[in-house]
Amino acid sequence: GKLRRPFVLANWKINMAPDEVGPYLQTVLPALADESRVEVGIAAQDLYLGQMLAATQASPLTIVGENTHWEDQGAFTGETSPKALAQMGVEYVLIGHFERRKFFNETDETVNLKTLAALRNGLKPIVDLDEDLSAYSHLAPDQVILSQLEAALRGVTADQLAEITVAYEPTWAIGSGEAASADQAQEAAALIRQSLTNLYGQDLAQKIRILYGGSVTPDNAPAFFCQKDIDGILVGKAALDPHKFLKLVNQAQ
Ligand code: PEP
Repeated sequence: GKLRRPFVLANWKINMAPDEVGPYLQTVLPALADESRVEVGIAAQDLYLGQMLAATQASPLTIVGENTHWEDQGAFTGETSPKALAQMGVEYVLIGHFERRKFFNETDETVNLKTLAALRNGLKPIVDLDEDLSAYSHLAPDQVILSQLEAALRGVTADQLAEITVAYEPTWAIGSGEAASADQAQEAAALIRQSLTNLYGQDLAQKIRILYGGSVTPDNAPAFFCQKDIDGILVGKAALDPHKFLKLVNQAQ
């Protein structure tokens, strides 16, 4: 088997009503084993993080932020402080999700600043790479992912790299119902790992988890888990149903 711990991560985005959060957790939490090989997390909007952290004190479920600002504190109305996220007990934060890049003008530069801010505050960044070709029309798809990776990691030390998870999410596969094939995703993950090897050396690169995201369902998930360089999944729509989410968790065992 792989040395890297599988990671199954739900991304709620701004779905899920306030009165749905408790029942969802009540379905999922009792079904999670305390000492599972699989790491299980939910990324939720900031509003719900406090409640979720309180509800998961005695649970292995990991709570993940969906975004962070790059400054620790100050006059940035409406933003989320990475320092506050860390102090609240949040362990991971998504950085540079495709929807952030597309709808909120996040750039390689802000993704880098946010990655560094997360690391500085003890939050583990989950760095999202996509293949939105529009912003990089002069580059081939492979080069887009790699240039995003390189930009996101600018200034990240070898020690810090160990805290990072990479998510490969082809733009066309997110929310479209059309997942990448397991082969395609493996190819991209291998490319990302090769690039990490070039930047940080093989020992470190072998320790970094690479997730696939984009229309994952219980039907297609097993094929992703089998791939050599894919260490987990990032799941939007299918994970809104707690039973499907649990099924995905079980498939990762
Ligand atoms: C996502 O938003 O990260 C995602 C993968 O969404 P979906 O599973 O709905 O494609």
